[in-house]
Amino acid sequence: MLTLEGLSAGYHGLQILHQLDLRVAEGEIVAIVGANGAGKTTTLKAISGLIKPTGGTVTFDGRRADGVRPSELVGRGLLHVAEGRALFGPLSVEENLRMGAWTRGRKPLDEPLREVFELFPILAERRAQAAETLSGGQQQMLAIGRALMAGPKLLLLDEPSTGLSPKLTWTVLDAVKAIRDRGVSVLLVEQNAAHALNLADRAYVLESGSLVLDGPGPELARDDRVRAAYLGL
Ligand code: ATP
Repeated sequence: MLTLEGLSAGYHGLQILHQLDLRVAEGEIVAIVGANGAGKTTTLKAISGLIKPTGGTVTFDGRRADGVRPSELVGRGLLHVAEGRALFGPLSVEENLRMGAWTRGRKPLDEPLREVFELFPILAERRAQAAETLSGGQQQMLAIGRALMAGPKLLLLDEPSTGLSPKLTWTVLDAVKAIRDRGVSVLLVEQNAAHALNLADRAYVLESGSLVLDGPGPELARDDRVRAAYLGL
């Protein structure tokens, strides 16, 4: 579904990512864990076209994706749910969701809307409420729901648990599993390594812009280096 080969990227001539090789297979949840500033967000931006890679390739769904405009990648089924969520605050929950489906053109939206409401019943209850009045957890659900409205093949999720209570974190992470079970692949970055490693089929550890370790999520959670550096054990 997604392959990075030798991907490098940075800002204003400053290299942040150093030749990343990474793969997400169809139907997989893959996590990238790493400390603050390791380059997790930058990796997602380089994949979704928000910044242009300076080296290497991104292949998505069998076609080159590096150097492709983000809007075109959305049309091809690559959706990035950024940290900060970028919702349309004064618009209602339902309006935000409908706007997520702009790439579907004039196709009827009742079915995708029904699916999002099934996944996040609280959004159905609040469908007429302005997005800016939702709690942090509800806004995160709305941001994910809006991405689902576009009919993604791959979701890039940036720190979905940031600012959420433990209970809400699990609500959101359970939803990530349900999304995968519906056939959407997921690449997730998380500072909370314990959550991410428990959830992910496979995970990568990113340190100072380089991938230093990878393996099945639960296996990495037992790795002494990972436990010491990221799980505080
Ligand atoms: P965090 O969890 O804090 O978001 P991260 O692993 O996602 O950490 P990035 O946000 O990718 O890390 O940042 C990696 C490095 O790139 C940091 O040194 C950061 O200061 C730098 N950086 C991030 N965004 C920019 C930008 N727009 N311009 C210049 N440097 C940036």
